[in-house]
Amino acid sequence: MEQGLSISFGSASDRGLKREENQDSFGKFPAEDASLQTPKGQLFVVADGMGGHAGGSEASRMAVRIIAETYFAEQQADLPHSLQRALTVANQRIYQASNTSFEFYGMGTTCTALALQGGTGCVAHVGDSRAYRINPDRIEQLTQDHSKVAEMQRLGMITAEEARRHPEKSHLYRALGIYTELEVDMIPNLSLAPGDHFLLCTDGLAKVDPSELKKIVLSHAPQKACEKLVALANARGGEDNATVQVIRVLPGNAARTGFLSRVVRRWRRF
Ligand code: CA
Repeated sequence: MEQGLSISFGSASDRGLKREENQDSFGKFPAEDASLQTPKGQLFVVADGMGGHAGGSEASRMAVRIIAETYFAEQQADLPHSLQRALTVANQRIYQASNTSFEFYGMGTTCTALALQGGTGCVAHVGDSRAYRINPDRIEQLTQDHSKVAEMQRLGMITAEEARRHPEKSHLYRALGIYTELEVDMIPNLSLAPGDHFLLCTDGLAKVDPSELKKIVLSHAPQKACEKLVALANARGGEDNATVQVIRVLPGNAARTGFLSRVVRRWRRF
């Protein structure tokens, strides 16, 4: 069953209505291939940069680029090992760039990365971007936010609503590029089945409730779902950059049909 799995996916990113710049970055790798059967499979990354001037967007762009390069260059097939290595290298390189440049001093970025290979997935995570797993039965947040406010909520000191309104909600105690040492949260061995969805997003989506995420992801194709989610974040005020990626796990036959129809469409143009 798992042998034949495939995916469809979508993404959207928007500056929002209040910020001058979009400091989020995201990527899907390899760009030209959606196979889960290759040794390293598919990699999805979202990153939410922080730091004044050009720093925030530079940090998030560096994170996406370096994580992809390092993940695919790593010889070992093991997903958690490769992801851990990729985030570690990205942390070192962003830290170096931050501490050797006036322009980029103090920059950092969140990072939530998802690798899918064969019938398995793995998430690597630092910061307050999020990964969810969604299927018709439920939505599950796979990651924990590494913010002081989220920690206070986990300890029962404040409610979810108080956390949402807290003025320091974006203060992170873990991010890429801030310290020389990095602790990465790994969520390994996620078994994949047709009908599973993964959603990666930055905190610009925070005003969209999990029940709304689930409903929109299950009722639209991935690309359409991403566009609707970003539009909803803007409709709720658009206070921050919003970035989302949605990955749908399909039975192998469905993907092969889709791939063939794309090939035929392309061929007909000539
Ligand atoms: Ca943000």
